[in-house]
Amino acid sequence: MSAENVASQGGCAVATKQNSRPTNNLMWNMTRKCNFRCSYCYFPHDASPVTETVPVDRILRLLEQNPSQVGSRGEAADRAGWLVGLTGGEPLLYPGFVDICRRLTREHRIGLDSNLSISSRVREFAEQIDPARVDYIYASLHIEERERVKGVEAFIANVVLLQERGFRVVVNSVLHPTLVDRFPGDRERFARSGVTLVPRPFKGEYSGRRYPEAYGPEVRAIFADHPQAGSKMVYNFKGVPCYGGMRFTRLEPDGTVLRCSGDKTRLGNVLDDVRLNSAPQPCTVTKCPCRGLDWVVLSPEQEAFVDGLRQAVIGERSAARQAWERCLTAGSEMSNALCNLAVLDWEEGECPRARAGLERALEVHPGHQLYTANLERIQVETAPQLSNEVAPNDTGCRHPGTGVSD
Ligand code: SF4
Ligand code: SF4
Repeated sequence: MSAENVASQGGCAVATKQNSRPTNNLMWNMTRKCNFRCSYCYFPHDASPVTETVPVDRILRLLEQNPSQVGSRGEAADRAGWLVGLTGGEPLLYPGFVDICRRLTREHRIGLDSNLSISSRVREFAEQIDPARVDYIYASLHIEERERVKGVEAFIANVVLLQERGFRVVVNSVLHPTLVDRFPGDRERFARSGVTLVPRPFKGEYSGRRYPEAYGPEVRAIFADHPQAGSKMVYNFKGVPCYGGMRFTRLEPDGTVLRCSGDKTRLGNVLDDVRLNSAPQPCTVTKCPCRGLDWVVLSPEQEAFVDGLRQAVIGERSAARQAWERCLTAGSEMSNALCNLAVLDWEEGECPRARAGLERALEVHPGHQLYTANLERIQVETAPQLSNEVAPNDTGCRHPGTGVSD
């Protein structure tokens, strides 16, 4: 599993209208165990056999009780059913993994997040599973760990095998701040073997700085070539209605079903009974994993705000500015857009305009902690922080200085 996915489960799309939302999606966190020891991963580094298991019949029962909408993305009927994302930890450690995939893919589709380090299991999967029923395989490189176990060549062989069998494999390379310098060389080296590395943003704290917001211009330039990857970030959708817990939900190793990866509200257990939500409910948390972007119900001005954030993270400053200006013509309460335009102003050396923008933001939402902190920062010529708060409210950010509240 990728470091990015430790927090978020990758694969986000642009904010979508209702009629273009993806097929219903169950993220199955099969195990927290993993045979790798990536330094930036907070999962327990435990490669012992997986003993906590859930019968696949119970999962199939849950999916049957909550049928996906046929043709939700214009697909033919045989493309309906649920998409079950298999993640962990390392899912290939799970007993009977390939058999489970075979059962799930009879009526549904699957996706896989894996480090592809168990070659015998990869071969079994490649031989027995229909690629047409597998939406994606996100293979995580984890180059330092891969080198430690002397597994680089085996990884390349596994990726090539899966690709030759017709699976869609995306090889992710997480740009942890300690790995940024070596990424261009790694990318060239793997390309010579026919493997394309896709940079993924590291989401988390390192040396007191929060990423991806803290990436400098050299990383933004890398992501400029991969805008879809670079735009993955942690959003704050608190208060925004969301299909999480209804059409997007999360299964834990012990069978517990949570509303989603961000909002840990318990909806039941597949071993007993599960009640999914019957309509979109307001999000209750301030950190949303990337996939939430597919499932929130955004107003036009909120869509514009999100678009601005995605542009800013990949260094498209003028596109970000235009998006946030659109917010303000659409919604006068968008103090978050005022805040972020002020950050752009400050970066362009327009301090008086930045100060005026933040003061206007504080008039709309008095006492907001991030805006107040940003105003203090620009007085002492310290970089202010972008707001990721899609529905601004008076409580603001509880951790001034990070731009991300929790
Ligand atoms: S491969 Fe394993 S240790 Fe590395 S990030 Fe993924 S879950 Fe963590
Ligand atoms: S917006 Fe909230 S409820 Fe929706 S997926 Fe994200 S964290 Fe979950």
